[in-house]
Amino acid sequence: MLIFGRADKVYRSQGTLIVEESKFPFNPNKYLQTFEPYPDHKLQTLLYLNSLFASESSLDSRTWFAIPHSKKAWIINVKDRKTGETIKTFKGLQTSELEQYMKDNLERFAQIVAGQTQPQHHLRQNKCAKCRVENCQHNLSPKR
Ligand code: SF4
Repeated sequence: MLIFGRADKVYRSQGTLIVEESKFPFNPNKYLQTFEPYPDHKLQTLLYLNSLFASESSLDSRTWFAIPHSKKAWIINVKDRKTGETIKTFKGLQTSELEQYMKDNLERFAQIVAGQTQPQHHLRQNKCAKCRVENCQHNLSPKR
C-alpha cells in the first residue's frame, strides 16, 4: 500500500523533524474555541512525519529519502482564507500514543481497501459539498 501526498512544509530544527500544514476553513471562527485540531488533520501530519520524502513529486522510489532526526513534531496552522493570517496554531510532538493512533488508522484503511471491513460514513454534509470525488453514491450534500 502506497500513500502519496504533498506536505506544505517539511524542515528540521535542532534535530526535530517538523511537518507544518496550513488549513483555510470556510468558517475559521469555529476553531477559536477548540484546543485540538481535527483528528484527520492531525493524522495527515503524522502520515507525512512517518514517510520517506522526495524533493520533486515522484513515484520513483529511487528518488525517495529519509530525513535523519531525533524527534518528530507536527504543526497545524488555521488561516483566514481572505487575508492568509494565522488565527490558530496547534502543535505537538509525536508521542507513542499518536504513533499508535496512526498505525491503527493505517491498519483500518488497509482492511477497507482489502474489502475486509466496511468504511463508516463521516455524516458531514459540508465535507461532501467540498469533495471532488465524482458520482459518489454516499454524497450527503444537497447541492449535488
Ligand atoms: S462525496 Fe463521497 S467520498 Fe466525498 S466526502 Fe462525501 S462520502 Fe466521502
